[in-house]
Amino acid sequence: MIPYGKQIISEDDIEAVIAALKSPLITQGPVVEQFEEAVADYCSAKYGVAVNSGTAALHIACLALDIGPDDLVWTTPISFAATANCALYCQARVDFVDVEYGTGNISVQALEEKLLNASEIPKLLIVVHLAGMPCDMAKIHQLSQRYGFRVIEDACHALGARYGEYKIGSCQYSDITVFSFHPVKAITTGEGGMALTCDDTIAQKLRLYRSHGITRDETQMEGPSEGGWYYQQLQLGFNYRMPEINAALGLSQLKKLDEWIRIRNSYASFYQQELSHCPGVVLPQTFDDRLCAYHLFIIKVDPKLRLKIYNELREHDIGVNVHYIPIYHHPYYQKIGSYKPLKVTEEFYSQIITIPLCPALSLDDLKKVTQIIKQITK
Ligand SMILES: *Cc1c(COP(=O)(O)O)cnc(C)c1O
Repeated sequence: MIPYGKQIISEDDIEAVIAALKSPLITQGPVVEQFEEAVADYCSAKYGVAVNSGTAALHIACLALDIGPDDLVWTTPISFAATANCALYCQARVDFVDVEYGTGNISVQALEEKLLNASEIPKLLIVVHLAGMPCDMAKIHQLSQRYGFRVIEDACHALGARYGEYKIGSCQYSDITVFSFHPVKAITTGEGGMALTCDDTIAQKLRLYRSHGITRDETQMEGPSEGGWYYQQLQLGFNYRMPEINAALGLSQLKKLDEWIRIRNSYASFYQQELSHCPGVVLPQTFDDRLCAYHLFIIKVDPKLRLKIYNELREHDIGVNVHYIPIYHHPYYQKIGSYKPLKVTEEFYSQIITIPLCPALSLDDLKKVTQIIKQITK
């Protein structure tokens, strides 16, 4: 099977994990903090708060922005369900903004129109850098300033990506950026995630919600400390902590990130070249001033041929996929809201196929994929 995404674990990763296992603290120790600092440094953000999944990071990100019952959150329908679920965990209401055809990212134009016509302005917008291609963050930031909503970047696809002069994760245009370290993502900790921010208060809240809402910091307490044993629960938080074992793996993996992003980009160029003459195949849009992390390579094909292409690639043991079924299609979302189909979202979904792209593959694997697609579409 040629998978659409797969981790690379090498000897130094294994040694780092063994060292963590042999250390006195296998959770709540120094390696988690080192990993947080390393990721924050890499992205030029001020703070990183490590948790045990990207989904947990999205959840505490919403909580840290005070999202609660009846608040309105807007997001993109073309994402993994977790992007919208995090708002529902906070009892907020979710609505969807249409996407742009070229990237599948939230459309700035659709967002602007929806804001102009809205009877209620959302408290929060969650954007997704689909496939690792940054959204138009400067324009989204401008709109957030004009209308007064907060912004979370779900950057689970976009560790290593760049928008203009800023790495994704710098939070230059958002309140919080969220990463996942699931094995299909750019680097892995097994399961894991991180929320990045440049805001002191938000960082403090993220840490609080990660660990039961409990603090041992006297400056945060209501009233004086009663002694060395004393702590206070200030909020209803969770146990979303990342163990040292996982952080050690992440820290080791991070060293390879730039090389892997380089390989992902060279594989993407290969696909762009090889498939550019296939009739009916539309390749992902690129921008001179944005570096895509190429978590996924999403091509668009004739909707009438999509199932045939998908099935044939699968028959050849090629792990193609569809990213994503619009979130509002899911029966759960149909049950809780009256979501109308969005025009470009539906068009995009009817055409997309994700073809394998990750550093664990060889150029020969990629050639196998392009040969079959060329055969079917010729
Ligand atoms: C992977 C992913 C998540 C969830 O991350 P987990 O670590 O699996 O919880 C959320 N949003 C997007 C866009 C993702 O790709």
